[in-house]
Amino acid sequence: MSVVSAAPALEAAAHAAGRMIEPGAFLGLLGGGQLGRMFTMAAQSMGYRVIVLDPGSHSPAGSVADEHIAAGYLDTHGLQALAARCAAVTTEFENVPAESLRFLARHCRVSPAADSVAVAQDRILEKRFLAAAGLEVAPYAVIATAADLEQDLAHLLPGILKRSRLGYDGKGQMRVERREELVAAFAQLGGEPCVLEQRVALQLELSCVVARGFDDRLASWPVAENRHAAGILDVSIVPARVPAHLAQAAREAALAVAARLDYRGVLCVEFFVLPDGRLLANEIAPRPHNSGHYTIDACITSQFEQQARVLCGMPLGDTALHGPAVMVNVLGELWARGEPRWEHVLHYPRAKLHLYGKHEARPGRKMGHYTVLADSVEEALRDAMAAREALRADAGIRA
Ligand code: ATP
Ligand code: MG
Repeated sequence: MSVVSAAPALEAAAHAAGRMIEPGAFLGLLGGGQLGRMFTMAAQSMGYRVIVLDPGSHSPAGSVADEHIAAGYLDTHGLQALAARCAAVTTEFENVPAESLRFLARHCRVSPAADSVAVAQDRILEKRFLAAAGLEVAPYAVIATAADLEQDLAHLLPGILKRSRLGYDGKGQMRVERREELVAAFAQLGGEPCVLEQRVALQLELSCVVARGFDDRLASWPVAENRHAAGILDVSIVPARVPAHLAQAAREAALAVAARLDYRGVLCVEFFVLPDGRLLANEIAPRPHNSGHYTIDACITSQFEQQARVLCGMPLGDTALHGPAVMVNVLGELWARGEPRWEHVLHYPRAKLHLYGKHEARPGRKMGHYTVLADSVEEALRDAMAAREALRADAGIRA
């Protein structure tokens, strides 16, 4: 431990409350990925300075931040250095250790709080939380140990076995068709606590990003319709092409999650829509979300600006949509034959390109995204897909 002393209790209470943090102040960010990069840019454009803490040396956020502390998320010296300099700290990825957030909260304002992040870090807690909040979830069973595989699980097959902790982009999950495969799948996932979920017939997937401030005010963005490819978000279409009552139900459910978690910050709830129109809650991301990237170009206030506003105790911004938008993720496979020809995207005057400054393009790695704005969803989707096909053709990827 270094020499920085713990803040007195009274001061800690003031940190937690909604005192305004003026532009010019330093904000801390745990994590150096693209979500952090977009947060950093939004905060800087309002005059804040950002210090990123992450272990890497060339991270997307670290390379645009005012300062970078190269340290692990459990490194006490690094955390203390961050807390000593920053008026408030936020996070850009959900697997930041809750104990690090608790440690920081003794010194400065932290949003979101460790307790709300902890719920989203653990699928078992998350499912219980969602059900207790009145949201329907896919039928599931907790498989904490191999002994739990003895119970009757036939009604959950075919299913998906998901590790309770540390999964993302479909990693840490295995599809299981038959009972015999379960034991092997459980072992392959490390024998760690899992949930077995029934594989439901997805008509489509939705997500809703919401924000809640220290003044308890809530805001929600229009619901996105999401398409995945190989377990990774591929395309988000906004507004989602679903009946208005369903979009409204998703917004209300996501707002209920934020309020019930006593959440301060930006979060996203992912949903499945079943063929009979039922809405199932899949998971909570306690941070801005990939499916909310469209808000940068298509909304009055982006999810990242809102994250900065909440963190600084500023009033929430308007989340209204300027018009239909389609966001497409740009993954590393597009670099198979060298730098993609971005004119395929920028050819469309209402397309906005965002690249994250990653040096190495690997298949499946999120390198950037683009958003196409148009007068109708159909037009935005048509142009977004045409740009994507051109990029893929150049990279030798067949449709
Ligand atoms: P991400 O980080 O991209 O959100 P993740 O690793 O947290 O992914 P999930 O969101 O649980 O994993 O699942 C990834 C995708 O797999 C979902 O978006 C959905 O397409 C599919 N999927 C997950 N659970 C089910 C299910 N019970 N039935 C059918 N499809 C599912
Ligand atoms: Mg997910």
